[in-house]
Amino acid sequence: MSQGTLFIVSAPSGAGKTSLVRELIESLDGIQVSVSHTTRAKREGEVDGVNYHFTDAATFEAMIARGEFFEYAKVFDNYYGTSRLAVQTVLDAGQDVILEIDWQGARQVREQMPEAVSIFVLPPSRSELERRLASRGTDEHAIIARRMRDAISEMSHYDEYDYLVVNDDFTTALQELQSLVISRRLARPLMSERHAPLLATLLSQAPGVE
Ligand code: GDP
Ligand code: ADP
Ligand code: 5GP
Repeated sequence: MSQGTLFIVSAPSGAGKTSLVRELIESLDGIQVSVSHTTRAKREGEVDGVNYHFTDAATFEAMIARGEFFEYAKVFDNYYGTSRLAVQTVLDAGQDVILEIDWQGARQVREQMPEAVSIFVLPPSRSELERRLASRGTDEHAIIARRMRDAISEMSHYDEYDYLVVNDDFTTALQELQSLVISRRLARPLMSERHAPLLATLLSQAPGVE
């Protein structure tokens, strides 16, 4: 069976990547989002094991020491990381995986898996980014201000990504993400493996054909 494709989605906090990725995996089969580990506090409504695996710093550091992370980074003073085993298991089963990670993690993933497809989601303006961060209603004032400041440095890494999606109209941005996943699945190496019997039949030599 062919391996699934690894997609990396990054964006400044509030740009809409979590909402877009949630809809994307609901709308397509054969694709899952990787649940990260984090040391940040749980937001209201978040569920352990669904949004994140919420862990303390000591547990996270022990996982680092054991080499259990595919990538990890400190973002807004908290650790965030992706479990190597969880991602590899899904890819080996032929499913696609999306990582919602920051630019530091994206770099680590590209080094280990250059074939990963990376997508950066941009907000339509700074003022709209600020409005979305505030309207989400899950973070304190000081946290929102901090995330706004860090947004500009996160966005400055846009040129390290394969694709850019502007999340202005949600449905349009979602369609663009769907197109990226679908077009990747149509790439020749994957298609020729998946349709090997068809290709064999189509190309079998009939008598007298060159
Ligand atoms: P949100 O992006 O505003 O919903 O805020 P989060 O607290 O969910 O995520 C904060 C930052 O951590 C974002 O830049 C994410 O891309 C990043 N992040 C989340 N999970 C991971 C991970 O597993 N690895 C890395 N490197 N970054 C992550
Ligand atoms: P992120 O995961 O990038 O921090 P979220 O998915 O949590 O972002 O989105 C931040 C807020 O913006 C949420 O309240 C979400 O409903 C809203 N949002 C996302 N995309 C759009 C859009 N295209 N137009 C308007 N609001 C949006
Ligand atoms: P939040 O705290 O708002 O959920 O996420 C903040 C940022 O952390 C987001 O921009 C998100 O992309 C990043 N992030 C979440 N999980 C991971 C992860 O596993 N690894 C890395 N490197 N970043 C992550």
